[in-house]
Amino acid sequence: MKHRTIAIAGCGVAGLACASLLRARGARVVIYDKLETPKPIGSGLILQPVGLYVLDEIGVGARMRAMGAPIKRLFGKSGRHVVLDVRYDALGAHAPHGIGVHRGALFQVLYEAALEAGAEIVSGREVASVSDGRLAFADGAHAPRFDLVIDALGARSPLSRAPEAPLPYGALWASLDWTPEFDPHALEQRYEAARKMVGVLPIGRMPDGERQQAAFFWSLKHVDRAGWAAGDLDAWKREVLALWPQTAPLLNQIMRHDDLVFAAYAHRTLREPLSRECVHLGDAWHCTSPQLGQGANMALLDAFALAMALERQDDLATALGEYARMRLWHIRLYQLASWAFTPAYQSDDRFIAWLRDVIVSPLARAPPAPAILAALVAGQIGAPLHAINKRGA
Ligand SMILES: Cc1cc2nc3c(=O)[nH]c(=O)nc-3n(C[C@H](O)[C@H](O)[C@H](O)COP(=O)(O)OP(=O)(O)OC[C@H]3O[C@@H](n4cnc5c(N)ncnc54)[C@H](O)[C@@H]3O)c2cc1C
Repeated sequence: MKHRTIAIAGCGVAGLACASLLRARGARVVIYDKLETPKPIGSGLILQPVGLYVLDEIGVGARMRAMGAPIKRLFGKSGRHVVLDVRYDALGAHAPHGIGVHRGALFQVLYEAALEAGAEIVSGREVASVSDGRLAFADGAHAPRFDLVIDALGARSPLSRAPEAPLPYGALWASLDWTPEFDPHALEQRYEAARKMVGVLPIGRMPDGERQQAAFFWSLKHVDRAGWAAGDLDAWKREVLALWPQTAPLLNQIMRHDDLVFAAYAHRTLREPLSRECVHLGDAWHCTSPQLGQGANMALLDAFALAMALERQDDLATALGEYARMRLWHIRLYQLASWAFTPAYQSDDRFIAWLRDVIVSPLARAPPAPAILAALVAGQIGAPLHAINKRGA
């Protein structure tokens, strides 16, 4: 790869992964983030086989697998209806499965890898704009000029077009101690129509922790957020218990409203990841609701694609064009799938929930649907790794 100086705005999954991959290819990399101590927000997520492939490329896949919890099944019930039952082994007995991880664990492992690879990380720098290869910060200061500026500032990046509006539903999240009432290898959810949803995901342990943990989440509309925060916590717990009584040992660990963090979801994709001044990566390019559990995996794939394109092409414009082409098809497919699936799990629409329970769920159990759904969840529809690797072949 031609020796380049590269500024990465944003120290999240996309920025950190890209920093390690670019350093390994000889670039000089500086990451800027607004937080004094960069850290992840939220609870847990599923690393899919495609994301784990990229972590293996960075050299941290084995560490993440050792800390995380193997996820072999996604299972959800609405009353007596099984409405979600996706098993990775529908793709074959030895098909790779997901790994549930604490967001903090993924962040720490990627952060250490980026530092070890020689990336420079500058914290406490709020990016406001970019012009002529130079980032401008909110306090009026500027970064030096770089050959390339990468926007990895997430869903609300000031360098990217903002999402039109958050989706009506977000969720409350908490990382709690694991309790044995649940399947240790499954993401489990319970629904009432599409208006209520409670979920439990095994997420393994933190790098410095011994205890196994669970991500607990409860679907909540934006407009109901203030009412929930001002309301009676015990009354809310009774509502959750009515939907899924086995959550009692998890709810007992929640003492106050602040033990749960509200996450807003948004949906948008830029037509192109390239603007005149920078190239977009991860949620800064495309973001969705987390129903399909792909966001971090998409960010990892973007990082890998960009690093590979820059390695193969000396001309910057050619490399960036190749990056866009390698990722576009996969991203569009998943944006479409997320747009189609989200209302079935988070909306006020009773008809869509009825369709999900009575029509779609039985159909989803008939071949070849189980294998297609498993490939969708595993991040493999659209063959994203093939798209990245074949261009170098
Ligand atoms: C509740 C929830 C559950 C999810 N579950 C899953 C899942 O199961 N599987 C999955 O793959 N994905 C999941 N996702 C999505 C996933 O977390 C995101 O897609 C992923 O974190 C995107 O990474 P990123 O690096 O693009 O952005 P981010 O992780 O958002 O990182 C952006 C970084 O930029 C910094 N920053 C922002 N603005 C500025 C600024 N102006 N100046 C300087 N720094 C700034 C932030 O501090 C942050 O460090 C979930 C998301 C949410 C909210």
